[in-house]
Amino acid sequence: MRQLLTSALLAGCALNAHAWGADGHATVGTIAAGLLKGTPTEARVDALLNGLTLAQAAVWADCVKGISPSQHYTYPSPGKYPECAPLETPTGIAEMADYVKRNDRQCQVGLDEDACHRQTHYADVALQRSRYLQGFVGTRGDDVVGALRTAILVLQGKPAVGPPNLEGRREALLVLVHLVGDLHQPLHVGAVYLDAQGERVDPDKSGLDENSFTVGGNSIWVVGAPKPPAPPASTTAGPGPVAAGFGPLKLHTLWDGVPDKFKPQRVNAAWLAEARKIRLSRGDPADWPARWASQSLEQAGLAFEGLKFSAKQGSHWTVVLPRGYSAKADAIKRQQLTIAGAKLAQLLKALFPN
Ligand SMILES: [Zn+2]
Repeated sequence: MRQLLTSALLAGCALNAHAWGADGHATVGTIAAGLLKGTPTEARVDALLNGLTLAQAAVWADCVKGISPSQHYTYPSPGKYPECAPLETPTGIAEMADYVKRNDRQCQVGLDEDACHRQTHYADVALQRSRYLQGFVGTRGDDVVGALRTAILVLQGKPAVGPPNLEGRREALLVLVHLVGDLHQPLHVGAVYLDAQGERVDPDKSGLDENSFTVGGNSIWVVGAPKPPAPPASTTAGPGPVAAGFGPLKLHTLWDGVPDKFKPQRVNAAWLAEARKIRLSRGDPADWPARWASQSLEQAGLAFEGLKFSAKQGSHWTVVLPRGYSAKADAIKRQQLTIAGAKLAQLLKALFPN
């Protein structure tokens, strides 16, 4: 359990705030690749990816965070994140740097962000909303929905107004593959807004008080979680208390992490069969991200259901997770990874039909 907890924490630390861990993204890419096997779409996507698998491409938009604008857009720490290794060739690094140069300060940088490309990974729609709609508090033209829509428009050959600034089909594909994953992580879409007492507030009704912003659950620390039942704890990625040496476990990080049983190498025929049953999206693919976000928002509501928060302590709140929360979270994660993989395959089929 400790090991699982540690890997969840590391995934969060390694990839910064606001991202499924690398494993979650790779799982989504692996499911999509399984569904596309042997299709003309697979061949066209492979040609654009030029040697990268979908699972490897799925972390590109996180790996670009390794480009340092303050160090002349170099990539100071190659080897730091194993999942980025396939991208760390001279050409690959030049490609990432080029993207970051065009998507660093060329937008309205939101709360708690320091670069434009980072804020394309999420939205923070209040849990009180029943669907995603551009204009709600926590949405932006370049949030995860808007950025994914832009990538789709580029791949449709239609005019796309950023940010993000996407240059060419390959870059649009790399961004798209990642964002379909992020969009299905419930805490990348839905957010709880809390007052100083830790009570929920509705920013669309009361007006946004920046102090109520929980940074997608990054400002909510998990404390004093009940220990999973002993001894078969090996299957339980329990949240656990604050781990020494790793700082607090943030609620967002808990949701980014995936347990061993959901890692990409665990995608098998049975899991693919489940993904094949996911309902097809209809209409113009450019409209799909907003609909998918509404489903994810609903799941965020479940993720926060029954949670009680402490009064604000400095810049964070704390939460004690109820018994059984870990199993509930795993069930939602499994479902969302499956849907994300299925929707990614559907989207690629629509964009690369033959
Ligand atoms: Zn991300």
